[in-house]
Amino acid sequence: MVKKSEIFQFLYLKKEPVLFKLVITLLILSCGFMLKRSFSEQSIILTLSHSIQEYSTAKDYYKEHLAKQENDAIKIVSKSEEPQIGVVIIGESTSRWHMQLYNYNRETNPILSKMKEEFYLFDDVIAPDVMTIRSLEKALTLSNYEHPKVDKNFSIVQLANAADFDTFWISNQQPVGFTESTPTIIATAAKHKQFLATDSYFYNIHDESLIPEVKKALKTKSNRKLIFVHLIGTHRIYAKRYPKRFNYFEGVNERTQYKTEYSKAKVNEYDNAVRYNDFVLSEIIKMVKTENKNSFVVYFSDHGDDVFDTQDFVGHHNNKGSKPMYDVPFLAWFSNDYLKSNKKIDTLDSYKSRKYNTEDFIYSFSDIINVEFEGFDATRSLFNLNFEERKRIIKNNLDYDTWE
Ligand SMILES: [Zn+2]
Repeated sequence: MVKKSEIFQFLYLKKEPVLFKLVITLLILSCGFMLKRSFSEQSIILTLSHSIQEYSTAKDYYKEHLAKQENDAIKIVSKSEEPQIGVVIIGESTSRWHMQLYNYNRETNPILSKMKEEFYLFDDVIAPDVMTIRSLEKALTLSNYEHPKVDKNFSIVQLANAADFDTFWISNQQPVGFTESTPTIIATAAKHKQFLATDSYFYNIHDESLIPEVKKALKTKSNRKLIFVHLIGTHRIYAKRYPKRFNYFEGVNERTQYKTEYSKAKVNEYDNAVRYNDFVLSEIIKMVKTENKNSFVVYFSDHGDDVFDTQDFVGHHNNKGSKPMYDVPFLAWFSNDYLKSNKKIDTLDSYKSRKYNTEDFIYSFSDIINVEFEGFDATRSLFNLNFEERKRIIKNNLDYDTWE
């Protein structure tokens, strides 16, 4: 193999400064492209910053506070010492609107539908935003619509560290701008990190590759562990999200708006991806169940996609924000041991239609891992007796619950 330095030497020796300059220019251009791309993947950090200087300060703030395993802002009031295994599965672009579990008219959840007596399915949960990063930086930290900038912010990963859990972040999403994007920064705080996919959304990436890695994490010795699994889920390009054996749907679905050859193909591909997602989720739940320990699995999607459901559009974008993009699945599975030692979970059946916004997930999370931190607000936990419904404000001061 020819080393880079050898190429440069060659260019100089051949006295071809024009070619050399061309190579350098191309390098600079591609660096510029990467930088721009990295910036475009930013959200809150960039949105809240009105200048490069401010951007840089905000980014440093995030890196300094959210990327480290420990965070001084966390004051633990009380925590359980019991052995426990928690798995938090963060989905991608999967809308309730295309899930059989939520009465979609196609069999997109053949496995989970059979298991549905085993878990709690929440049917009125929304995402705070329709873009991955903007949604996750709220769902995974203390920030929310009213307080996007929190003085002493921390993440669910850091909270788990502070509560003496061994933490794993296993991701099938490309760590874009490795030290830049918020989910990557949040993931960095985990004690064990794995990014299995290095390709972008344009390539074949299938979530079953996560399964053996989750299994390995489940088999590690630690008594208390939290495994965060970040799926590629059902993100476009849909046909690249499932193996051939999951090519199942054909024909036109009567529910599709704007029926064309194109929408027919996209709906079938999306539904195949949702059906594959059903398989991946069920496999992870079954693995945790087999461990037969005090354990739980929680799954929700970062946001959904509109696949010709309400408009002539496929995907998710702020300018096109519609209900299918905000309406996300949320399910929670608990082992028998967990249920025995957490009697409060018995009441969950009556909580399943609570109006919830995943921007408050950190409170639900701390509730199920039995950790109370200074600032914990029981009224914001989906699993708490003292939960209170509150306004769900999205977009530019739009109340989701009065949105036509
Ligand atoms: Zn997303």
